[in-house]
Amino acid sequence: MSQFEQLYRQVALSVAGNPVVEKVLSKQGWALAQRFVSGETAQDAIKAIHRLEAQGIQGNLDLLGEFVNTPEPANANTEMILQTIDQVHAAGLTPYNSIKLSAIGQGQTVNGPDGKPQDLGDVNARRIVARAKEYGGFVNLDMEDHPRVDETLRLFRELVNEFGHQHVGTVLQAYLHRSEEDRRRLDDLRPNIRIVKGAYLEPASVAMQSKPEIDAAYRRLVYEHLKAGNYCNVATHDHHIIYDVMHFALAHGIPKDQFEFQLLYGIREDLQRELAEQGYTVRSYIPFGKEWYGYYSRRIAERPKNVMFVLRGLL
Ligand SMILES: Cc1cc2nc3c(=O)[nH]c(=O)nc-3n(C[C@H](O)[C@H](O)[C@H](O)COP(=O)(O)OP(=O)(O)OC[C@H]3O[C@@H](n4cnc5c(N)ncnc54)[C@H](O)[C@@H]3O)c2cc1C
Repeated sequence: MSQFEQLYRQVALSVAGNPVVEKVLSKQGWALAQRFVSGETAQDAIKAIHRLEAQGIQGNLDLLGEFVNTPEPANANTEMILQTIDQVHAAGLTPYNSIKLSAIGQGQTVNGPDGKPQDLGDVNARRIVARAKEYGGFVNLDMEDHPRVDETLRLFRELVNEFGHQHVGTVLQAYLHRSEEDRRRLDDLRPNIRIVKGAYLEPASVAMQSKPEIDAAYRRLVYEHLKAGNYCNVATHDHHIIYDVMHFALAHGIPKDQFEFQLLYGIREDLQRELAEQGYTVRSYIPFGKEWYGYYSRRIAERPKNVMFVLRGLL
């Protein structure tokens, strides 16, 4: 990241977090958010999957919403995710969902059926993975801000042991200093991991701040994960990295079915089609739902040009 881009990202993320800005954009921004969000309902998202599948691109559904503090919204989000999985199956598709643990109760303690305290995020994630597995589907635990990493990886390990690595995956963020070590520690699970650069505003004590450093860490993580024989979701819009991964795979005899490219809905669609046409597995991360603000503001913060898009739209 250049100094300008770094500053831009910091300012954009803190401005987006301002309650007044959030109120204005939440009221007026829906028309603009639709560039990155498939719609408000699961049916909108299913339509998007059908449209993409016609172009050889697969889907990965994400019910928008994050950081809830009480059990009611956490359980309501879980019910909606379960219903989405049912609806995707009923539409003749194999469910593939991404979930944010902060939206389904991570960090909230409740009493389990045996009266013992349990983490609500664990309880709800188990229900979701079990439902997806019934239909041969897959659930990915998205990675959020750094204080959640330990708990997310702890739960991921438990879920893989219970449901199998074909049904549950998680994410490592290249910008975190700890990610290379985290990746090595997970190797015994043969884990399905999505590698991303990282979308949150993190301090230098835990995360790299410069783009060249993050890009180099990104490549290292992907290459190490592939060399260890694991399945890798290469989640980036950075075509330099994408082409380097293709060359790395060719040079090391890594088959095309050991990795896939994942990109966000509405971003670099030309590249998504091009990769699918070349015979690579491509999966579009398709957000839907009413709670679009947090997701949308991170997309705006990633690219200065996107702010002009918002301002033009608002004016
Ligand atoms: C499928 C998927 C899942 C993800 N899951 C997570 C997660 O669980 N946790 C997490 O922290 N982060 C997640 N991210 C976000 C990720 O961490 C980055 O913030 C985001 O992908 C931007 O980085 P980049 O790799 O595309 O590279 P960058 O270097 O930021 O961008 C490379 C190029 O991509 C294009 N581009 C990138 N972003 C945008 C944008 N918003 N609008 C338009 N063009 C753009 C531009 O052409 C840019 O030059 C995910 C990303 C993807 C693709």
